[in-house]
Amino acid sequence: MKNMGKIKDGWFSEVCPMWPGIALSVEINKVLYSKKSQFQQIDVYETKNHGRMLVLDGIIQLTLSDEFAYQEMMAHVPLFAHPDPKNIAVIGGGDGGVLREAGRHKGIETIDFCEIDPQVIEISKKYLPEMARGFDDPRIKVHIGDGNAFIREKKEAYDVIIVDSSDPIGPGEVLFKKPFYQGLKHALKENGVVATQGESFFLFKETVAHLAQITKELFLKQAYSCILVPTYPGGNIGICLASLGPELKTPARKIPKELQDQLQYYCPKVHEASFVLPRFAQKIFEDI
Ligand code: SAM
Repeated sequence: MKNMGKIKDGWFSEVCPMWPGIALSVEINKVLYSKKSQFQQIDVYETKNHGRMLVLDGIIQLTLSDEFAYQEMMAHVPLFAHPDPKNIAVIGGGDGGVLREAGRHKGIETIDFCEIDPQVIEISKKYLPEMARGFDDPRIKVHIGDGNAFIREKKEAYDVIIVDSSDPIGPGEVLFKKPFYQGLKHALKENGVVATQGESFFLFKETVAHLAQITKELFLKQAYSCILVPTYPGGNIGICLASLGPELKTPARKIPKELQDQLQYYCPKVHEASFVLPRFAQKIFEDI
């Protein structure tokens, strides 16, 4: 796959083909790790002002300065949309950030985690301990392999499934296709909720529409939640949510004070507000 990241004069630039003529650049002090795994090019940088940064195949996955926005929303929106999640699965997310957030829910009993690239986990444990501490939770069972193959073998196993995948190029491509979503549906228990990395409605309008179409066909309820993340191109990304019952746009239960006190982005009002979309984005969903 073409590496879309470039370094020049101490700046890393993500050049997104979906965003021609514009690059997102981050000033870096040092390259901490740079190697190709079996699946992708993995780079970790020490940035000048935004903490460490993980880049896969030239695409920024996180910086420590704003990762909380994405990880909190990816975990807490689906987990609070469900009335009582006990058994959950996390697909992708080898950095451990979504696991860290999901682990804050005391009622969860089991967390199955499936990541295709063990190198991402190892590198995060070494260079991004703030993220990888998510793996310390004894409720987690780690599976190494393709998330699509993993989920196909599950039937009515999970209350919530979170898919923290990279973009639909490279190993993540399969996670944006209909057969995977059919697998997710069968892997959910009654009243199950699924949340997948849903891309930005500015940059990936066609992918957002494609996921909305698939989830509308397969699930009872479907919605798109927007997250503000300054170090993703366009400054935003989304969650594609779908459920076999629960309302998605409002939390199904109260957030315990001790959990709320640990968070920097998610709260019940932000949960609801994240589904209020600008006019042009609403139209993507009206048109399907
Ligand atoms: N926040 C993210 C972003 O910026 O898109 C995603 C972060 S997380 C690091 C994405 C993970 O998904 C990577 O570790 C990658 O190896 C994993 N992944 C990609 N394709 C996968 C697949 N088919 N099955 C399981 N994991 C996969």
